[in-house]
Amino acid sequence: ADGATAGTAAGAPPPKYPKGVILGKDGKPCRACNSFASFTTQSKSALKAAAPAPAKDCPPDVEVLGRSTWTLLHSIAATYPPTPTPKEQSDIKSFMRLFSKLYPCWVCAEDFQAYMQKREVKAGSRDEFGNWLCEAHNEVNRKLGKPTFDCRKWEERWRTGWKD
Ligand code: FAD
Repeated sequence: ADGATAGTAAGAPPPKYPKGVILGKDGKPCRACNSFASFTTQSKSALKAAAPAPAKDCPPDVEVLGRSTWTLLHSIAATYPPTPTPKEQSDIKSFMRLFSKLYPCWVCAEDFQAYMQKREVKAGSRDEFGNWLCEAHNEVNRKLGKPTFDCRKWEERWRTGWKD
């Protein structure tokens, strides 16, 4: 996504936060867009004050938020009907469109919206939606340099459990 990261704007005053930290609309580090690790490797006290090391029950960073969100999305796919009605199909498409606008990590949201423009949501059946979502997740995995997931196994991972 094209967006604000600390110290990137041409002609801007010296950055308050280390280069590469993603800022929110308020100009402060965006908690849901950065990992705790990226904060804690920095030494600037202003940054530490803005985002202290993770403690129990504190707001999510980009990874905790992502993991929880994928759990929700794949679980929705797992309970999506094998043969959905036209209304169910339009509901899931509306949900995904709004989800991609409201996702709290704005850089993630912008890239996901762009992906959805290229690859329209497929929701003609559980299998179709589950596979579409798996491919979308793999696109994010590739962007982050993570291994891709074998989409033939999405249902075992998220619905039936692994075969013995
Ligand atoms: P996750 O990627 O969170 O996956 C959780 C579990 O899902 C895995 O353990 C695995 O069992 C399973 N899984 C993995 N791949 C698939 C797949 N293709 N299909 C089905 N199951 C699978 N983070 C960023 O830093 N930058 C971003 O731009 C960004 N964009 C995101 C966009 C969206 C819409 C979401 C929901 C998250 C995004 N994230 C982003 C977060 C990122 O995808 C991860 O959630 C986060 O890095 C934690 O990764 P993880 O290794 O714990 O596994």
